[in-house]
Amino acid sequence: MADCERCGRSSRALSLHSIEGARMYVCPDCSRLGTPIKETSSRPVQPAGATRTRAPNPNKDALANRELELADDYHVRIQRARERKALSREDLGRMINEKVSTIAHLETKQLHPPDSLVRKLEKALEITLMERVEDVRATSAASSTGMTLADFIVKKKR
Ligand SMILES: [Zn+2]
Repeated sequence: MADCERCGRSSRALSLHSIEGARMYVCPDCSRLGTPIKETSSRPVQPAGATRTRAPNPNKDALANRELELADDYHVRIQRARERKALSREDLGRMINEKVSTIAHLETKQLHPPDSLVRKLEKALEITLMERVEDVRATSAASSTGMTLADFIVKKKR
């Protein structure tokens, strides 16, 4: 037993109707004033072509939109980790099956390592070369939504 959302009368037979543009559960008497709404499953039906018009949502998930990028000081990290392990460039090259010149280029930042090489280096040296980086769009979206810098920093730390 529930109350009609329009007249407040208790009724066993409330049904969902559209009355003056509002969706409400009403008793049979009130339902005559509106048009019935078929209750469908709660999943909203995607209109055709919805994906085409899908716009990036800058408010939601903007701060979660981070990507892993090669750390700017990857060359320092590689060299330091190698020296910490007392490895020569030759040693490291052998470990990861790369030429000595490749290691040299990495450590002088002349070579931007591809992902596969990054993974080998990270494993061999037990370091992290990738960093989570805010993407520029996310940062600008955050500022344009009127968030304060403090909000941004707090969320970023999460
Ligand atoms: Zn009613």
